[in-house]
Amino acid sequence: MIGILGAMDLEVRTLIERIEGARERSFGAFSFTCGTLSGREVAVAQCGVGKVNAAICAQTLILALKPQLIVNIGVAGALAADLSIGDLVIAESVVHHDADTSSLGDPIGMVSTVNRVYFPCDESAREALLSAARGAGFAARAGRVASGDQFVCDPARKQWILKTFSAHVCEMEAGAIAQTCFVNNVPCAIVRAVSDRADGCASVDFRQFVGQSAEQAMALMSAFLRAGCD
Ligand code: SAH
Repeated sequence: MIGILGAMDLEVRTLIERIEGARERSFGAFSFTCGTLSGREVAVAQCGVGKVNAAICAQTLILALKPQLIVNIGVAGALAADLSIGDLVIAESVVHHDADTSSLGDPIGMVSTVNRVYFPCDESAREALLSAARGAGFAARAGRVASGDQFVCDPARKQWILKTFSAHVCEMEAGAIAQTCFVNNVPCAIVRAVSDRADGCASVDFRQFVGQSAEQAMALMSAFLRAGCD
C-alpha cells in the first residue's frame, strides 16, 4: 500500500474523489481514505499544515497501516531562479531550514538526536516519478526541498535558505515527513509543484496558483500510479 499525504484539502481532494472502493479509516486525529487508484492500493490523507501536523500524521500512518512507501504531495515556493509556477520538484533530499543549534557548535540545519542535516528520499521512487513526469510531458526535476514552520515571502530569507542549503523549493511539511520515514525505515518521496516564488509577491501568487499547482502535483501522482510505480 502507498500512503499519500498532502497538507491542505486542495492538495488531496481530487485524488480522494477518484479512489475506487473507498473506505474511511480513522486513527487519532487523522482520517485516511483507503482503496485503489489506477489499480494500486493507497491510503490518502490531509495531514495539515506545518511540520508537527505532518509528523504526527506520518507516524500514525506508519503504525496503523504500514505503507510500503509514503509520498508527500503539494505546493511549494521556488528558491531556484529558473523554476516557474507549476514546475515540479521531486526531492533528492530534504532539510529543516529552521533547525538551528549552530551557536552550540552544531552544523546549521542539523536535527539533534538524529544528528543529521539532510534526510534522503527513496531513489527508485524518485526515478519512477521523474520518468512518469517525462511520459506525461510535465516540467519536473530532482532537487532539494527545504522545510520550515514559516511561509517564506521575504527575499532575504529566501536567499539565505537558497545559499545555506542549495535548496530548490521551500515548504512546510516535507522535512517532517522525510524525518519520520527515516527513523521508521519507510521509503519516502516528495512531490512539490511551484505555487509562488517565496518572495515579496508570494502571498498574492500563492492564492492565485495554489489550486492549479496542487492539481499538477496530483496529476503526477496519478501518472506515477498508472505507470505501476516502477
Ligand atoms: N493557513 C493557511 C496556511 C498555508 S501555508 C492554510 O491552512 O491554508 C502554505 C502551504 O503551502 C504549506 O502547506 C506549505 O507547504 C506550502 N507553501 C507554498 N509556498 C510556500 C512558501 N513560499 N513558503 C512556505 N510554504 C509554502
